[in-house]
Amino acid sequence: MTQLRADRKRDADLPLACPRDGRAMETLHRDGATFARCGGCGGHWLDQEEVRRVSTEDESSALVSRVEARSSPFACPRCQAPCVTAWVGDVRVDGCTACHGVWLDAPEVAEAKRAASTWTTSERPGRRFAAFVADL
Ligand SMILES: [Zn+2]
Ligand SMILES: [Zn+2]
Repeated sequence: MTQLRADRKRDADLPLACPRDGRAMETLHRDGATFARCGGCGGHWLDQEEVRRVSTEDESSALVSRVEARSSPFACPRCQAPCVTAWVGDVRVDGCTACHGVWLDAPEVAEAKRAASTWTTSERPGRRFAAFVADL
């Protein structure tokens, strides 16, 4: 019950407008996470809390610490702060500098899918977020 209420609240926070093309994004649920997907460009948005749900501890802490100075062309769809190139584990994302949510542009999802195709079975457990993205 509590979980259901929490999901409703999280749904109410969406939809957001796509930072690339301004389309209203659809709300999706997978692996306990609620996130947004743009039907136009294939980009995905996850709030920081949702990234945590589908990441290992190492991956999600890397989100805040491993930020490249390079700014990204996107503004955060949640709070409009500028995004920068950031990493969640070995997945390149556009991370919001204020709310720490992540925008995954379609090429970044494709990059994660390519990388995942080279993993051995034993490499997968340490890469929860990367595996999540590879299955998007
Ligand atoms: Zn879009
Ligand atoms: Zn933000």
